[in-house]
Amino acid sequence: MTEPLKPGATIGILGGGQLGRMLSVAASRMGYRTHIFEPGAAPAADVAHRLTNAPYEDETALRDFAASVDVVTYEFENVPAASLDVIESIVPIRPNRRALAVSQDRLDEKDFLTGLGLTTAPYARVDSAEELAAAMQGQDRAILKTRRLGYDGKGQVRLSAGDDTAAAWAQVNAPSVLEGFVDFTAEISVIVARGQDGSVAAFDPGLNVHRDGILRNTTVPCGLPSRLIPDAVLTASRIVSALDYVGVVGVELFVTPRGLIVNEIAPRVHNSGHWTQAGCAVDQFEQHVRAIAGLPLGDGKRYADVVMENLIGDDMDRLPEWLAQPDTQVHLYGKAEVKPGRKMGHVNRIIRR
Ligand code: AMP
Repeated sequence: MTEPLKPGATIGILGGGQLGRMLSVAASRMGYRTHIFEPGAAPAADVAHRLTNAPYEDETALRDFAASVDVVTYEFENVPAASLDVIESIVPIRPNRRALAVSQDRLDEKDFLTGLGLTTAPYARVDSAEELAAAMQGQDRAILKTRRLGYDGKGQVRLSAGDDTAAAWAQVNAPSVLEGFVDFTAEISVIVARGQDGSVAAFDPGLNVHRDGILRNTTVPCGLPSRLIPDAVLTASRIVSALDYVGVVGVELFVTPRGLIVNEIAPRVHNSGHWTQAGCAVDQFEQHVRAIAGLPLGDGKRYADVVMENLIGDDMDRLPEWLAQPDTQVHLYGKAEVKPGRKMGHVNRIIRR
């Protein structure tokens, strides 16, 4: 254990999107400064102490960034390994590199999860059109997913028996995995934090509804049989302990009649954890800051039933209606341009206290 970060210390954040923005707000509430490193547009910079606007390949910028902060964290898991090497030679990165490496590659992630004895969708490595055709043999439905750089359903092709596998391969044309289609009854996620002392605190699992591969809303409590809740929390706890993780992680799970199946690990604060801002004394952003700063964790207790709705693209037209709703928090990310599929903000509706 290292000494806790002192008030006035600076947290470096790789990625300047809405997650970095909400981490910055939490950090500043805890008496810290933040320095954002972001190659593109950076809504997080509006609420940060400093911004470095440079590509991840700019070694000088990375060195200057790392030298100006006390710890580095990230809101975006696809930071190139070479950039992390430069940063890590100067300042610690939390959560650690292993968590990033595992979650950056869908094949490594699935190998890691099955290695822990956890259940994932059946999967096969696919590196060519021929391998895809072979892997589709005997499958009714499957999803081809690129190993790297896929998010919000991007880099994915859905396939049914008899479909043209050559055409599907042409759409991704990159190292991939073919996942058997899981007939789930629900999608849930658990947001768990692990502190530097190894303590683990979980928030209640939320029920997630996706449309077009993008999260639309999360509801807590998730309404699932109560025996599934400890399963979900234990699954996430095993993952963070195995990774010697420090920080908040989002673990996405499919609920099936035969138990829980792990879909994906996000080694960062997660969209499906935004409800904690209205439901808990210490939300996921403060929890992450506490963990990486070496402070004690909040216990994750929930004080209200909450529905979180994402405001995506034209959903912004309904903003006046949301603002008129009772018991509703509005969070906007400060993005100037509305685009289809772009996450512009979210609302947390308190349903019951
Ligand atoms: P992902 O980017 O892998 O989280 O996938 C986005 C969404 O696609 C998930 O939240 C699910 O709704 C759906 N999905 C992904 N993988 C599978 C699968 N193996 N079987 C059924 N649905 C899936």
